[in-house]
Amino acid sequence: MEKVTQSNTEVAQNYVSQVFETVKKRNMNESEFHQAVKEVFDSLIPVFAKNPHYMKQGILERIVEPERIITFRIPWVDDLGNVKVNRGFRVQYNSALGPYKGGLRFHPSVNTSIIKFLGFEQIFKNALTGQPIGGGKGGADFDPKGKSDGEIMRFTQSFMMELSKHIGPDLDVPAGDIGVGAKEIGFMFGQYKRMRSGYEAGVLTGKGVGYGGSLARKEATGYGTVYFVEEMLKDHNLSFNGSTVTISGSGNVSIYAIEKAQQLGAKVVACSDSSGYIYDKNGIDLSTVKRLKEVENKRISEYVNEHSDAHYFEDCSGIWSIPCDIALPCATQNELDEIAAKVLVSNGVKAVGEGANMPSTLEAINIFQHNQVLFAPAKAANAGGVSVSALEMAQNSARLSWSFEDVDAKLQEIMKDIYQESIKASEDFDAAGNLVIGANIAGFVKVADAMIMQGVI
Ligand code: GLU
Repeated sequence: MEKVTQSNTEVAQNYVSQVFETVKKRNMNESEFHQAVKEVFDSLIPVFAKNPHYMKQGILERIVEPERIITFRIPWVDDLGNVKVNRGFRVQYNSALGPYKGGLRFHPSVNTSIIKFLGFEQIFKNALTGQPIGGGKGGADFDPKGKSDGEIMRFTQSFMMELSKHIGPDLDVPAGDIGVGAKEIGFMFGQYKRMRSGYEAGVLTGKGVGYGGSLARKEATGYGTVYFVEEMLKDHNLSFNGSTVTISGSGNVSIYAIEKAQQLGAKVVACSDSSGYIYDKNGIDLSTVKRLKEVENKRISEYVNEHSDAHYFEDCSGIWSIPCDIALPCATQNELDEIAAKVLVSNGVKAVGEGANMPSTLEAINIFQHNQVLFAPAKAANAGGVSVSALEMAQNSARLSWSFEDVDAKLQEIMKDIYQESIKASEDFDAAGNLVIGANIAGFVKVADAMIMQGVI
């Protein structure tokens, strides 16, 4: 490692901004992808200043270019007999540490930029878990909202017809994300199995517990986010216990973040869906949210029909105007902008933990950091889901299944380790306590070193 001088830092800065300019030119009109790349690149300047050999190795140029991007047509027939066509994606981003690993998102907003930002984030997140998994992501611009089970099954089968050519337990292991849960994974697994002459349990994760899924996978992302944030709070003599918390979303991540925060003694007063948010000053009744969202497939607005003290407001971004000690954005990318961040700060928020992928804009993160709000970035804080996916792969390979308690204990250990590693990296690179910088550096170094050891590939 070289001594850092002013000129080393300048060289590193120039290198990073030059590569970033090329990224923008080569990937025009991909604003979410640019945003994810910028956040990582800015964190890495001190790494290049101390370790100039990474520049010579062209690591940044290589890491930002996916190893492979696959896009494909997904034709399917709706319940009325009409033929519909969606677009499918899989980005196999980086396999330095293991098979490509990452979820599939079904949402009308899905496009190349969204899948590339998610895939790029996944490389570093997966490295942070300490598990042997590379980074990938995929999905389709299919909107599951309002579709029958038959339509969802026919769509996912058509999606898998094509995707199956590119995945495998040692090659690429997809899982769920927004719009893809145990039901969709089940349909995809069934279709994949039909097309192969063997039972390859480890080809997908997030499977049903009865046929190779892991206990605690469903809870893992939400629980993991709360475990990570609790670790961060503990370091500052704070805790979930007795805190008022807002948690956006009401999907898989949000529901289990609410559950764990409540178990740790927090009062969670609000959650949301894409139409609006509910505020319940008595604390949210999670069993109602679970029934509405996991069983009945209804809007969150229905909550107030059963809880007369609760209020419903249109426009989900208004959730950040509720005064709270801890805010956990668990819905989707860029749901928390600069204005929302300022309101949270003026209402005295002490900590923000990202359960969704890239839910805060770069400007919002800046506001938190300049106002001494503890900030847990997505790559670290929401790594619990993919961590337990890797544990699911391990169980599938060993043909075993571990108890809920075993998996949950391993998840807690992993989240603590990610926190410690990120803090240490932030200290080693003169940004003590900055978890954005710490997590990006800790993830990056593992991937970069593995890439160098594997030659110019
Ligand atoms: N979609 C999740 C994520 O963003 C989980 C991925 C996985 O389990 O492979 O990390």
